Amino acid sequence: MKRINTPVGTRFGRLVVIGDAASNKAGQGMFVCRCDCGTEKIIMGRLLRNGVSRSCGCLLKENPGGAPTHGMSRSPTYSSWAKMKNRCLSPGHHAYASYGGRGIRVCERWMVFENFLADMGERPSFDFSIDRIDNNGNYEPGNCRWATRSEQQRNKRKRIRKAPNITRRALTDAQVIEILSDVSNGRHYGYAAEKARELGVSAETVRAVVARKTWRHIRVA
Ligand SMILES: [Zn+2]
Repeated sequence: MKRINTPVGTRFGRLVVIGDAASNKAGQGMFVCRCDCGTEKIIMGRLLRNGVSRSCGCLLKENPGGAPTHGMSRSPTYSSWAKMKNRCLSPGHHAYASYGGRGIRVCERWMVFENFLADMGERPSFDFSIDRIDNNGNYEPGNCRWATRSEQQRNKRKRIRKAPNITRRALTDAQVIEILSDVSNGRHYGYAAEKARELGVSAETVRAVVARKTWRHIRVA
């Protein structure tokens, strides 16, 4: 991944970058910053550059209950975060029974929007929502990712449905004769699939016999 340069000494509000830190789990660059109040804190470079983080948190403390300072309250990411909290924490929410009501929690860390953003990264677009990998697990790092609705449906099905148990094996001469005589007596819609289940082979195998593409040496009188 290309690392965007955030040089030591750069100022973002009250914060001054004083060094590099290890990237977070999502591979995003993190920086050690010193706030004008004297506190040192590790902050995601992206949050510095887009103006979300402008202090160690002291600005927010000085402005309790004031307007959000992260500047993202209209973003898809913020909307997802707010809805997640409502589903789990507001008994009046229409979907509360499927979330908070059955014990799904938002972890302590994610009660703060900036932490949620740092762990999840930005929501790619409104087409994406938070997918809990374990549907009975909580909203917490390691159990969540951004996914589209169709990705989530696919993953759910994969978790539930096992591969169909089709044994692919060759037909015996007798079975081929059976198929061919069925055909000469007239066959109904869905015959191939039905016969395939009966014989434990794929429908393609039966269709190939019917079309006389395979087992051509066998003839029925
Ligand atoms: Zn500070």
